[in-house]
Amino acid sequence: MSRPPVRNFVGGEFVAHDGETIEDVCPLDGSVLTTVPLSTADDVAAAVSAAADAFPDWSSRTLKERAQVAYRYRELLTAHADELAELVHLDHGKTVAEARAEVVRAIEVTEFACSLPQLAAGEVLEVSRGVECRVDRVPLGVVASVVPFNFPMMVPHWTIPIAITLGNTFVFKPSEQVPLTATRTAELLTEAGLPAGVFNAVHGGRPVVESLCDHPDVQAVTFVGSTAVAKSVYQRATGNLKRALALGGAKNHLVVLPDAVPRTTAENVVASMAGCAGQRCMAAATMLAVAGSEPVLDLVCEAARRLVPGENLGPVVSAEAKQRIEDFVTEAEQDGAKVLVDGRNTVVPGREGGFYVGPTVLDEVRPDSRIATEEVFGPVLAVIRTADVAEAVAVENASPYGNAAAVFTRDGRLARQVAEQASAGMIGVNVGVPVPLEPFGFGGWNESKFGVGDITGKSSVEFWTRSRKTTTRWH
Ligand code: NAD
Repeated sequence: MSRPPVRNFVGGEFVAHDGETIEDVCPLDGSVLTTVPLSTADDVAAAVSAAADAFPDWSSRTLKERAQVAYRYRELLTAHADELAELVHLDHGKTVAEARAEVVRAIEVTEFACSLPQLAAGEVLEVSRGVECRVDRVPLGVVASVVPFNFPMMVPHWTIPIAITLGNTFVFKPSEQVPLTATRTAELLTEAGLPAGVFNAVHGGRPVVESLCDHPDVQAVTFVGSTAVAKSVYQRATGNLKRALALGGAKNHLVVLPDAVPRTTAENVVASMAGCAGQRCMAAATMLAVAGSEPVLDLVCEAARRLVPGENLGPVVSAEAKQRIEDFVTEAEQDGAKVLVDGRNTVVPGREGGFYVGPTVLDEVRPDSRIATEEVFGPVLAVIRTADVAEAVAVENASPYGNAAAVFTRDGRLARQVAEQASAGMIGVNVGVPVPLEPFGFGGWNESKFGVGDITGKSSVEFWTRSRKTTTRWH
């Protein structure tokens, strides 16, 4: 074990845990990094109580004063970017370059939080002579955020800096598979001047999440993770009359038209399907190859073969994930798909204990097969041949998910047709990973998101605050 045990962070202190723990395993080589507490309802209650105690002081400070902490935190994230990226690389397995890119995204959302005094300034209007209506955005109280394993820095920062700068106090539930960055987040927020109790972190699994959904003093819950859990968290939190936003899984389709620029399209498709080893909710899982686009498919295979596991392609998160992904590929092959590039049984010399899956491209996949409809979450591209754009859109529309969709073409009319007809919240036109950057919000449709609004951007201000309407007459 190379690191001290992970601890919960409550009321400004790291607290010793004498209960159950699990091992945090490094996907690069299968070594055990440390242990993670499996916290209980009592641990959640302690964190919520610390957050509730911190709320009156924190929420009474002005927004501009709270934004000063976000500014200092942004500087600390920048100063420690390499160290944070190294932690992400070690804990999650993604390449150092991918880890750096996600730290940059965390910094960008923090910069959005620094700008909140400009965005959440409130409104005032003289509604009739001498009578003024004024609307202020007021924090909710104690709020909670539950995150997945795939972006240990970026996804937590979709919520932490925004919710806190808006005046809420926070209980964070990191993924038990990637707990390391939560500790540095707590330390850097403290160094930035955040008062004790404003940010708390409770490690563990399902019992922690359920306790947060049930605790009467938690006002709002955000969740990012798989669709099945997103649904149950959304139902449980709203069933307890809390505000909730739950982002779920995805199955993203890229429509490739015959007139697409071949090489850049192929590179975009492969970067989308294999970036972060395919463990992105924005990953291209399915390529809808419209008749005539065969030359692009040849280049996709070429680009996929250029990826080298252990160099520019990281492992997947666990031994179970590797097995599940390889089983998907084997089942698809038995179902009639052609394996053009096969990443099964990949071993990286010197890292035999790592959980590597090589880039995999499957052709002639049936649209109703399991690999075409379920989330694989690995570096696997399922290619479905379609006769025309209408058939491609019909396949996309049949998916219950709706995170992202993309179209590759030089024809503006067809690009617009796909962009308007795809049933997804984030659309790419000649862009394989269409993540909207600040100030725009991140969020899908259908079974990829439950709740109103997006998790970042302007609608996050609505989510983390309520409006106070004051009507005043002085004469
Ligand atoms: P997951 O659903 O297994 O876990 C997410 C979080 O929920 C973790 O903190 C985990 O401890 C907790 N959890 C797990 N099972 C639970 C249960 N039964 N009840 C309550 N809490 C539970 O997801 P994951 O494997 O960590 O992450 C991958 C998933 O996240 C993929 O489906 C991916 O598409 C999705 N994701 C979505 C987005 C998005 O923006 N829509 C972004 C990133 C990841």
